[in-house]
Amino acid sequence: MTAQKRSVAILTSGGDCAGMNAAVSTVVKLALYRGCNTYVIREGYEGLVKGNGDDVSMEHAERDVTYLNNIPLSYHCGDFFRLGDFDGGDSSLSHRYIVKIGWDDVRGWNQMGGTLIGTARCKEFRERDGRLKAAFNLIRNGIDSLVVCGGDGSLTGADILRTEWPELVQELHSSGKISEEQAQRFMHLHIAGLVGSIDNDLTSTELTIGASTALQRICESLNSISSTASSHSRAFVVEVMGRHCGWLALMAGIASGADYVFIPERPPPEDWRQDLKDKLLKTREQGKRKSIVVLAEGAIDRELQPITADMVAAVLRDLHLDTRVTTLGHTQRGGSPDANDRILATLQAIDALEALMEDDPGKPSYIIGITQGRVRRLPLRDSIAHNNLLPEAIKEKRFDDAMKLRGKEFNDGIKTFLYNSIQMDGKALTDEPLTIGIIHVGAPAGGINAAARTAVRFCLHHGHTPLLIQNGFKGLIKGQIDKAKWLRVDSWASSGGSELGINRQLPDTDLDAVATQLEKHKIQGLLIIGGFEAFQSIKIMSEARQSHAPFRIPMVALPATLSNNLPLNEYSVGTYTSLDVLCRTCDMILQSASSSRNRVFVLEVQGGHCGFLPVMAGVAVSASLVYTPEKGVTLTQLDEDLKFLRRRFKADPEDSNDGRLVICSEKASLVYRAPFISDIFGKEGGEIFDSRYERLSHQLQGDTPSPLDRVEASRLAVKCCEFLEKHAGSACAWDPPSAMITMRQGEVQITPVSQMVEHADFSFRRGKEQWWSACEQYVDIISGRLSI
Ligand code: ADP
Repeated sequence: MTAQKRSVAILTSGGDCAGMNAAVSTVVKLALYRGCNTYVIREGYEGLVKGNGDDVSMEHAERDVTYLNNIPLSYHCGDFFRLGDFDGGDSSLSHRYIVKIGWDDVRGWNQMGGTLIGTARCKEFRERDGRLKAAFNLIRNGIDSLVVCGGDGSLTGADILRTEWPELVQELHSSGKISEEQAQRFMHLHIAGLVGSIDNDLTSTELTIGASTALQRICESLNSISSTASSHSRAFVVEVMGRHCGWLALMAGIASGADYVFIPERPPPEDWRQDLKDKLLKTREQGKRKSIVVLAEGAIDRELQPITADMVAAVLRDLHLDTRVTTLGHTQRGGSPDANDRILATLQAIDALEALMEDDPGKPSYIIGITQGRVRRLPLRDSIAHNNLLPEAIKEKRFDDAMKLRGKEFNDGIKTFLYNSIQMDGKALTDEPLTIGIIHVGAPAGGINAAARTAVRFCLHHGHTPLLIQNGFKGLIKGQIDKAKWLRVDSWASSGGSELGINRQLPDTDLDAVATQLEKHKIQGLLIIGGFEAFQSIKIMSEARQSHAPFRIPMVALPATLSNNLPLNEYSVGTYTSLDVLCRTCDMILQSASSSRNRVFVLEVQGGHCGFLPVMAGVAVSASLVYTPEKGVTLTQLDEDLKFLRRRFKADPEDSNDGRLVICSEKASLVYRAPFISDIFGKEGGEIFDSRYERLSHQLQGDTPSPLDRVEASRLAVKCCEFLEKHAGSACAWDPPSAMITMRQGEVQITPVSQMVEHADFSFRRGKEQWWSACEQYVDIISGRLSI
C-alpha cells in the first residue's frame, strides 16, 4: 500500500512581522519539493475557522496548472496575494480561506514586508467550538500537517489545538461530520511552530522572526531624531514597542548610543527620576548637545507602576531641557525585511517542514527556534510554559529571575549599555589603571566604530587610559596616537566606515618601529579590531616577543570583516551590514528586470576566498544559483546551470518579465569569472532570456551599519576589554596571552591565537572548517534547481 500523500498548510497569525513571507514561501517550496499538496490559510486562525464554506473542491484550482517535474508552478497569479485583490482578481478566492498554492505563487516573497496571506486575531479560535470548526475544515480539505507562524498567543493556540485534536476528531466522527475513514486518516495532526514576533519576546529562542527588522526601523528613526536633537540641543523620549519585553528598547539604546533606557524586566532604581537627572546632567557637563531616552511601551517602576513617556519627559523638562516625545508605533512593524530576518525565517521554515515530515504521534510538537547560534527544535509545550515564567517573575517583582530568563545576550546587553552611556570619570576604578591601545586593521566593516567607542568608554569607566591609534599600523609607526575623550567617540555608535582610519598594513613592515611606539606610549594592552589582518597582526607580534619586549603585553583581536572568514569563528562584525546591502541591491535589480524583460543578473560580490557572503545572500534573496570559491566553477556545471535557467524561464507564463539572480563570489574561479559567466548565459539564453553583469564591492562595507552589527560589536568590545584587564597582571610575563574573541555556537569564546593558527588555511585566508557550508544546498532547494 502506498503512503498517503501528505498535505501541508501554513498560516500566519497574531501581530504581523517582517520575515513571515519568507517563512511562508519556504514552507510552500519545501513541501512541494517533498511531494506534498500545499496550502496557505488566509487570515490566520480566522481562515481556519471559516474554511471554504461548503466548497471543498480544489478542482477549480487544478484547471490551468502547469507542472514541471511534477511540481505545480502556479494555481493563481502570485500577484493576487501581493495585491490582496481576491475579489477583483480571482473571485473564487474571495470566500476561500484555504488555498492551494504552487511554486511560483510565492515568487519574490522574501523581500515583502508584513504577511501576504493575511493575519488576524480570532476570538472564536480561543473557544473549543471555534477549534472544532478549525479541525473540521482541516480534515475536509485533507490537511494533515500545519505550520503556524506567529507570536506566543498563536503558538499557545497551536498547542491547544494539538492537545485537543484526538477529542475533536472523535466528536466530529460521532456527530457524523466526518467519516470513519477520515477519522482514521486524520487521527493525528502534525504541527510545527515558527516564532514571528517583532518584540523578540519568546524566552526559549534567542531571536524571533521580525525582531531584527523592527530594530532596524527603530534605529533608522533614532538616527533621524539624533541629528535634529543635536541641532537644537534637545532631549527626546522615544517610545518603542515591547509590552513585556525590553529587547527592542535595550538593543536600540545600545545601537544608537542612547543615554537611558527603560525596560520592563529591569526597572530603574526606586528614585529613577533623580537617577535619570544625574546621568543626563553628567553627559551635558561633558558637552553633549542631545539627550535620547528610549522607553519600552511596557516600562514599569519597581512597584510595577507604568512609567510613561510623558512622565519621563516631565523629568527632563525639570532639567530645563527642550524635550520632545516621539512614539514610533506601527512603523516598527513595516517595511522590507532585513537580511537577518529573511535568512532566519528561511532556515527555520526549512526545519519546520522537516520536523513535520519526521513527526509521529509519539513525538512532541516543536517550535523552531534558535539557540546557541543554531536552528533547533524546541518542544512547543515546554517553550510556552517557559515563556509564561517571565511575566510571573515580573508580577512578583523577581526582576533578577526575569533577567535570567531573558538569557545571556540580553544580560550582556545591559552591561554594554551601561558602559556606553554612563559618564563615570573613572570612578569605578580598578587598582591598576592601564594604558590600552585601540587600533583598526584591514578593511572597513559595519560596526567597527561602535566597537572602538565601547572600548573607549569601558576604559574610561574603569579608570584606564584609552589610546586611539590612527590609520592602523601605518599610523602607529608614525606615532599617530592620542588619548580618547568620552565625548569624542559619542557619535561613533552608528557611524559607518572607520573613524580611526584603517588599512591592511601588517606590523612586520617595521616591527622595531611598532615596538618603539608601544613602549613610548607605555601601552599595556592592545585591542585590534579587524579581520584576517587583525589575527595575523597578533600572530606576528606574539611571535616576535623574544626579540621585542614591548610585545609582551596581552593582545586581543575583535573579529570584524564582511568576509566572515576567520577560523573558529562564526560571526564577524560587519556581516549583517553587508548582507543588508546585498539584499537591498538584489531587490532593486530584480525590480528593474520585472519592468523590462526576462533577464539573468550575475552579481559579483566581495568576500575573498570565503563563500559565506554569497551563500547567505543566496538564501536571503532566493538566488537561482550561487558560485563560491570553495566549490569553484566548472564548464560542466555551467552547462547544467544553463539548462536549468532555460527550463525555468520557459516555464514562466508568456509575456512575463522576470529577473533571476546568480550570485558569484569574486574568487569563485580564476577562469570562469562573473563577467564571463554572464556573457555565456546571455549568449546561450538566446530568445528566452538575456544576462547582465553587476558588481558589488566596496558598497558592501555599508553606509550606516546594521543595528545587529553595532550591538554585537559593542558586546564583543566589552569582552575584549575584560580580557585585557584580566591579563594585565601578566604584562611583565614573557608570554602573556594573545587571543581573538570569537563566536561559536552563539557563545562568545576566547580563542588563543595559537589555536586559531591550527585551524587557519593561510593560502586561502579562511578557516579550515566552514560552519555555514550546509546552507549551500538550501539555495539549490529553494531556487528549484534540485526539483525543477
Ligand atoms: P501573537 O500570536 O502575536 O501573540 P495573539 O496573542 O493576539 O497574538 O494571538 C493570536 C491568535 O492566536 C488569537 O487571536 C487567537 O486566535 C489565538 N490564541 C491566542 N491565545 C490563545 C489561547 N490561549 N487559546 C486558543 N487560541 C489562542
